[in-house]
Amino acid sequence: MRPRKIPLRKCVACQEMKPKKELIRVVRTPDEQIMIDLKGKQAGRGAYLCGKVACFKLAKKTKALDRALKQSVGPEIYDQLERDFIAVEDRFIADMNQVDDDDESEA
Ligand SMILES: [Zn+2]
Repeated sequence: MRPRKIPLRKCVACQEMKPKKELIRVVRTPDEQIMIDLKGKQAGRGAYLCGKVACFKLAKKTKALDRALKQSVGPEIYDQLERDFIAVEDRFIADMNQVDDDDESEA
């Protein structure tokens, strides 16, 4: 039996490669909205960040999202995303630690 391949993505802030599950996706939608995409299903250009506020703050400081999303991200958008990030962090960590056995079954 082959081990299941875990898709890795790079955090745009700290540049670490991590399993997708442990990263929070930020997406620029086709209508140019920038938002957190917890399910990772939103269409658009995505950037990944570790699921912790420290990495978000680093991204904000270094404007890593501007580069990753190829769009200038205003300070008010960073502020909004930071609030959203903090709001989803607990849920995200809880989900990450959950055993997901319905991952493969498309409803
Ligand atoms: Zn990171």
